[in-house]
Amino acid sequence: MFYGAGMSQILPHARIEPVNDTSIALAGDMLRHGQLVAFPTETVYGLGADATDDRAVAAIYAAKGRPSFNPLIVHVADPDDCAALVRVDDRARLVMARFWPGPLTLVLPRAAGSPVSLLASAGLDTIAIRMPGHDVARAVIRAAGRPIAAPSANRSGAVSPTRAEHVAESLGGRVALIVDGGACRVGVESTVLDLSTERPTLLRPGGVTAEQLEAVLGQPLACPHQDPEAPKSPGMLASHYAPGLPVRLDATHAAADEALLGFGAMDCTLNLSPSGDLEEAAANLFAFLRRLDERDYRGIAVAPIPETGLGVAINDRLRRAAAPRS
Ligand code: AMP
Ligand code: MG
Repeated sequence: MFYGAGMSQILPHARIEPVNDTSIALAGDMLRHGQLVAFPTETVYGLGADATDDRAVAAIYAAKGRPSFNPLIVHVADPDDCAALVRVDDRARLVMARFWPGPLTLVLPRAAGSPVSLLASAGLDTIAIRMPGHDVARAVIRAAGRPIAAPSANRSGAVSPTRAEHVAESLGGRVALIVDGGACRVGVESTVLDLSTERPTLLRPGGVTAEQLEAVLGQPLACPHQDPEAPKSPGMLASHYAPGLPVRLDATHAAADEALLGFGAMDCTLNLSPSGDLEEAAANLFAFLRRLDERDYRGIAVAPIPETGLGVAINDRLRRAAAPRS
């Protein structure tokens, strides 16, 4: 496509490469260097980043322009790659053996020492993980040698992309590389099954049915979204991480025994970004809240964060953390 003079506002084009050994190796290299790479899965094109790199994960949220941090699905190329990331129990092994690779996402407890970014799980102690049923997706993940966080490769609110051109139209130069594997076999989204709880819980219906899962697990699933009596939210939407300590926003100074979480040049306990970089602040947000929460403070005071770009999602999360607890 040609953009004439006067269209200089247009973002740089995305680089699109057909699938071959060179483009797969390039994709792996870029991912290891913290860049965003889009690739086909059996459902839609995913916007991938190294799931162990907070900055790379922050770049996903920035590229999508999401106003909030939803936890992302972490993609692996092999079931054996899960062990270092999440705690895999017998139930998980059973359903992995039966439904992976494929459209089944498992929510499992974070393993001790898991390298997965806390921003990827939006601060939660659980991680959503799946092995995609698409050769190109698994080849890219294998080439990266890292677990890959990947939501759909479109701007927030736009339709999910099933072709490389859709990704390019929606994200433009916000993605470093698009590996063009042709049209996705338009599938439904992956089923999300929570195995971090005693009773297996269906968080989102999808390509693998509840009946199939119940047959393999030998027990009925809890289905919060189908039970009108069940309280809305926690079970259904991923519940939100909030620090145990009270959070106070728009603070310029810490009160006695309060920690001060700073932003920009200032004296504080921990600084989300001394240079005032919102992507850096997003990358540090959950890890720093946790660190302060674990210490002996009475509360956490948070410096003002600008309400622009990723600041919108950061402030959304901080406001939830500061809201009165029920
Ligand atoms: P998407 O990437 O758009 O397919 O959406 C990912 C889905 O997985 C969303 O519904 C998330 O809420 C859900 N999800 C991701 N991580 C978790 C988690 N740790 N606990 C519960 N749900 C999760
Ligand atoms: Mg989407």
